[in-house]
Amino acid sequence: MTDSFDHVIIGGGSAGSALANRLSADPARRVLVLESGRPDYSWDVLMRMPAGIAFTRGVSFYDWRYRSEPEPGLRGRRMNLPAGRMLGGTSNLYGMLYQRGNPLDYEGWAALPGMQNWGYANVLPYFKRMEDAEVGGRCGGAGVR
Ligand SMILES: Cc1cc2nc3c(=O)[nH]c(=O)nc-3n(C[C@H](O)[C@H](O)[C@H](O)COP(=O)(O)OP(=O)(O)OC[C@H]3O[C@@H](n4cnc5c(N)ncnc54)[C@H](O)[C@@H]3O)c2cc1C
Repeated sequence: MTDSFDHVIIGGGSAGSALANRLSADPARRVLVLESGRPDYSWDVLMRMPAGIAFTRGVSFYDWRYRSEPEPGLRGRRMNLPAGRMLGGTSNLYGMLYQRGNPLDYEGWAALPGMQNWGYANVLPYFKRMEDAEVGGRCGGAGVR
């Protein structure tokens, strides 16, 4: 193993893993991902099925078990804030649902100064590129079967 890297990514969650994948597509780049949680064990069926979320949330083996500050709108109660504690991050703790953001949200952001590249037409190609949808049509993902 080398002790020299071009990129060091802290956290192998959703964003860190996607970034590492993209960066390491170039074999000339050396990428190190540092994940503080446990490995993504292949034997762990709770990570592989959508209903597994019912058994993993709030369990320190999987979840950082963060809590909010006392919330004034909840009469001072603290909320549980689940966060994945493993390679794959919170994507490994989630409900296995996928949904694009609301186009109007992107249009709202794009209207802000310096944010013109965040319009829905700008982000749509990126949604399509990461999707493998069974539906086709104008909005279907790139991996349409
Ligand atoms: C219960 C729940 C269900 C969800 N369901 C869905 C869903 O169905 N569909 C959907 O699209 N989204 C869902 N989400 C949201 C989605 O999971 C998150 O938005 C996404 O995973 C956030 O990605 P991230 O890379 O920012 O953070 P994370 O994926 O949380 O990654 C952060 C990583 O950094 C690691 N880390 C933290 N501190 C350190 C440190 N000091 N050093 C090294 N590593 C560190 C953590 O262990 C973790 O692996 C859900 C979220 C929750 C909480």
